[in-house]
Amino acid sequence: MSVTLETMVQLAKKRGFVFPSSEIYGGFSAIYDYGSLGVELASNIKNFWWKTMVQMREDIVGLDSSIFMHPRVWEASGHVSGFSDPLAECKKCHTRSRVDHLLEDIGVSADEKMSEQEIQNLFNDHIAQINCTKCGSSDFSQAHKFNLLVKANLGNFTNDWTKEPAYLRGETCQGIYINFKNVLDSTHIKIPFGIAQIGKAFRNEITARQFIFRTREFEQMEMQYFTRPEDEMVLYEVLREARFQYYIDLGIDPKNLQWHKHDRLVFYAKQAYDIEYNFPFGFKELEGIHARGDYDLSQHMKFSGQDLTYFDEEKKEHYTPHIIESSVGVGRTLLAVLCDAYYEEEVRGETRVVLKLKPMLAPFKIAVLPLSKKLELTSVAREIASLLRPYWMIDYDETQSIGKRYRRQDEIGTPYCVTIDFESLNDKCITIRDRDTMQQDRIHKDELVSYFKEKLSMCH
Ligand code: ATP
Repeated sequence: MSVTLETMVQLAKKRGFVFPSSEIYGGFSAIYDYGSLGVELASNIKNFWWKTMVQMREDIVGLDSSIFMHPRVWEASGHVSGFSDPLAECKKCHTRSRVDHLLEDIGVSADEKMSEQEIQNLFNDHIAQINCTKCGSSDFSQAHKFNLLVKANLGNFTNDWTKEPAYLRGETCQGIYINFKNVLDSTHIKIPFGIAQIGKAFRNEITARQFIFRTREFEQMEMQYFTRPEDEMVLYEVLREARFQYYIDLGIDPKNLQWHKHDRLVFYAKQAYDIEYNFPFGFKELEGIHARGDYDLSQHMKFSGQDLTYFDEEKKEHYTPHIIESSVGVGRTLLAVLCDAYYEEEVRGETRVVLKLKPMLAPFKIAVLPLSKKLELTSVAREIASLLRPYWMIDYDETQSIGKRYRRQDEIGTPYCVTIDFESLNDKCITIRDRDTMQQDRIHKDELVSYFKEKLSMCH
């Protein structure tokens, strides 16, 4: 079902998925913190991505490169000169906006690959229809490109460090490219092969809207796949298919997913598609899948002076590998997963909110709930929780009425609740309630672990 962004923001805060950062200081724009349930959900998403990308494949290996890299990396990659978005400032209230987004809002397609002049012309052509998102004025400054790299003084102890800054990485994949040779030399892997990485990236995003969809600090899950030049496009199609299937396996309804083909490509790119998700604010990019040719390794060869070609032992020839990439944000995935799992249902005249998360994603797999706070019940319930904890994330809750506790667990997506009642003291049986069907099973305590092992097997 469709959910508004406001509802999602409220639920995320109320239940401890996502908090606005630095709230006690009035907040810090486009930065968010993940609460106790948010870290679990994010970690389950990252684990599933890693399992799909690395564990289940013999041709992809992992990497964890540093956030800081030699500043030349960002010159070679083109970020210092060209990693920018078009910006215009409202002359009345001084709100800065991304010009391509202002144009998009009135149905005019524009993107960051356009030249400054092209964007400016398009902006000028439509200025009469464009209003500031904050004050409504249509009196804007000229559009100009704004560089998104975040600068730092790491290792530079002068006062004018901004002239020779280090950068917080704007994307994780540069760490993969510069380690290409290390990975090749330290493993027995052969082309075609991929390197996967999960890590933080930083961008000075101009507009801070849409909750965790666009933040200035975020985590990316990226996989760069190195191919023979002639295999690039065939393997690109294979990757595209696998990536779409990944979101279905994550539990996302396929009707909320769609492809977006980029008509305008950067000069070196062979093909670029996005997988878009139907967010509360419309279909927007969730993941980019790009065929990048030999641009990345060629640039790093040029700037580092090192040979990053690959020697094909069978064909006895050297070539520069071509790269296909899959790149997605953890926060964007988390938002898509939450929106997709959100349901409001009528139960006996009342509305229950339920997150129908796949059990593998649910922060808690099981909640243990004694029917009353009496010690004879809570001591058994705590024993049951300890029995289950080595296997799964367990929530133990003895506060409020059982109805309210069920509602809380539904709202955070816990697939199973087990309740311990006075009868349990005699027959050693426990009631298990299924989140989705709300049906109940009564199981002997000794069978609990095997019952859940079966239910949660492969953790789907
Ligand atoms: P957009 O056009 O939305 O700014 P992009 O095309 O610049 O995104 P990429 O550089 O291709 O994005 O980044 C790959 C992925 O990383 C995106 O698909 C998205 O999931 C994630 N991502 C990029 N920027 C952000 C951000 N500011 N906040 C959260 N996630 C992001």
